[in-house]
Amino acid sequence: DKFKKGLAKTRNSFSSRINELVARYRTVDEDFFEELEEVLISADVGVNTVMEMIDELQMEVKRRNIKDTKKVREVISEKLVEIYYGDDDSSEIEGLTENTDGLTIYLFVGVNGVGKTTTIGKLAHQLKAEGKNVTLAAGDTFRAGAIDQLEEWGKRVGVNTIKHSEGADPAAVIYDGIQSAKSRNADVLICDTAGRLQNKVNLMNELSKVKRVIEREVPGAPHEVLLVLDATTGQNAMSQAKTFSEATDVSGIVLTKLDGTAKGGIVLAIRKELDIPVKYVGLGEKVTDLEQFDAHAFVYGLFA
Ligand code: GDP
Repeated sequence: DKFKKGLAKTRNSFSSRINELVARYRTVDEDFFEELEEVLISADVGVNTVMEMIDELQMEVKRRNIKDTKKVREVISEKLVEIYYGDDDSSEIEGLTENTDGLTIYLFVGVNGVGKTTTIGKLAHQLKAEGKNVTLAAGDTFRAGAIDQLEEWGKRVGVNTIKHSEGADPAAVIYDGIQSAKSRNADVLICDTAGRLQNKVNLMNELSKVKRVIEREVPGAPHEVLLVLDATTGQNAMSQAKTFSEATDVSGIVLTKLDGTAKGGIVLAIRKELDIPVKYVGLGEKVTDLEQFDAHAFVYGLFA
């Protein structure tokens, strides 16, 4: 139901256009598929993904000898879920990896303004509600205000934030975060970082230095490198995902502001074209507006 609410904008545009198509055509033909292709592309599903989807849809329609466009509509939702999971038939929700043997560390990356700080706050809140002891490390020492903003979230959700001053070495902040988390017997340390895309070499160097410190202090960590992307930025989000995954090993994506776009199809494009799972989606500004991504619930939210 949260998906249903959060996806209202996408649903209103996507589903109503598909319903309109279904009503107008009644029986399937080439033109129907062509128009369907346009609807999917305009929802940011991604051109390659749409092509593949239309091909598969046409084959399925032929195989099952479907004539009625209403029936095609059902197949569309099945195919959307299939497209998301690809060859991997486990359609389980992909949760976050945990360290069963000590401190779990999550590293957040992403450019400014995508909702990185907000997401860290929301996740800290969820983990705390599960009974975990959480610490934050303010590793974005570059953007003015980032440290205060993270600390503000820490206070709001009742977790400790480790910080240095603006301009400090992010790796040093995160090192301190790890020591503090260990000494407090914390379960999870969530690390913020600065996302300067302008200079890819700097970004890479900074992230690998941070990762080196984490790996040295806690073998097997970071347990997740989560890239935060803003769904409202469409193809920009795709290109950020490409750049970051070249700079570091991204294990999962958090797609924020899905509530603020009619182009929620970007979720499918990311999974399909980059092969990185979307682990969480942001469906609003409130602390509780972060959901584990579930393709079934997502597609249901699109059509419900
Ligand atoms: P950062 O610069 O990446 O740390 O971004 P912030 O966390 O400061 O977020 C930027 C803006 O996006 C803030 O106004 C947030 O309230 C807003 N925001 C973050 N996530 C979501 C979301 O899922 N939905 C909506 N509607 N707004 C969000």
